[in-house]
Amino acid sequence: KGVDNVSSKITFMPISYTGWGSLEHLTSEAERLNASNILIVTDPFLEELGMTNKIVEPLQAKGWKTSVYTEVVPEPPLEVGEKLVAYTKENKFDLVIGLGGGSALDLAKLAGVLAAHEGKVADYLNLTGDRSLTHKGIPKILIPTTSGTGSEVTNISVLSLESTKDVVTHDYLLPDVAIVDPALTTSLPPKVTAATGIDALTHAIEAYVSKNANPVTDGLALQAIRLISGSIRQAVADGENKEARTNMSYGSYLAGLSFFNAGVAGVHALAYPLGGQFHISHGESNAVLLPYVMGYIRPSCEKRMNDILEAMGFSANQLSQEQASYKCVEELKRLVADVNIPVSLKGFDIGEDALDSLADDGIKQTRILARSPMPLTREDIYTIYHAAYSGE
Ligand code: NAD
Repeated sequence: KGVDNVSSKITFMPISYTGWGSLEHLTSEAERLNASNILIVTDPFLEELGMTNKIVEPLQAKGWKTSVYTEVVPEPPLEVGEKLVAYTKENKFDLVIGLGGGSALDLAKLAGVLAAHEGKVADYLNLTGDRSLTHKGIPKILIPTTSGTGSEVTNISVLSLESTKDVVTHDYLLPDVAIVDPALTTSLPPKVTAATGIDALTHAIEAYVSKNANPVTDGLALQAIRLISGSIRQAVADGENKEARTNMSYGSYLAGLSFFNAGVAGVHALAYPLGGQFHISHGESNAVLLPYVMGYIRPSCEKRMNDILEAMGFSANQLSQEQASYKCVEELKRLVADVNIPVSLKGFDIGEDALDSLADDGIKQTRILARSPMPLTREDIYTIYHAAYSGE
């Protein structure tokens, strides 16, 4: 795979600043992008934490106008996106900065692009929209405060709909600059560190087994798996641990680059209905499904699951390929449990009667499911949800 005659498009778009203290590059980048009237998109909790001041103060010191928009909510519904886009259109901003987790970053990049387009956000949705993006819009700088989504390097904005999620996706959504500073993540509570960290791990694992993987995305994914699986327990136990936070930050960034190029698959396709129907966070939805989806598709990617097991720090030497792939599933389940995320749908109070409607929505995610190394039918999807429900 990847070294045969199949060609791959690889995009590493934004100029990125990474590592502890990298926020110091914000003003010089804003200057390079000719900013003077800046929109900062964030959520009310980060404003309350005083995080927004770290962005606003240096920009105001330059004499630039800043407007802080704090109406972002986790897993943002379409209407929240529509409102922000309308606000952005009414004002003549020349730079959009997204500060926060994936929810704030997804909305910031959407606003930056859609401010320059006719129509509503709904017109541009992947599954139901009928319009395509035609230009890049306002320059964008994205600054993640979770180590999870990789949104700072992807061309996707995710929106919650009534019973599932949909995306707007186009390379115009890629930001001009990403600033990935682990110092901004030390305030994350253990529960969010765990959920967002497993989200990042899922990106790397799904990218590694994706039908679209290639040697470039493989390298990124394996390094992400090493960093995240080796540090997530410490980051959850001690949020101030600089080394663990730095590893998580690099891990989620690498995982983002990897899955943006190779794609995610079954875990994400099944996680979207969980988020949509039960308002479970994106990270937890992925976490509870990860061992069961990987357990189900295991026969289609045994060798790759051996590699994942080794990247997680275990030796597969004494094991057959089949045994090692089973152990990989077991270790993933242990990792999810160790960071205190429920390992069955029952742990989220989801009853067996919900599985049919989850499967009905899961099978609709055709774009994502197309990258699964094992084709998944609605029946397969129901079986996976059932395994996740019973915890076996
Ligand atoms: P989030 O942005 O919803 O944030 C979760 C919570 O953490 C919020 O309450 C927020 O206020 C808080 N928080 C964030 N940073 C903090 C910090 N440093 N200290 C304390 N609290 C902090 O969570 P997320 O998991 O980063 O993003 C989820 C969203 O991203 C979902 O909508 C998901 O579908 C989307 N997503 C997008 C992509 C992409 O490529 N664009 C990929 C995966 C997921």
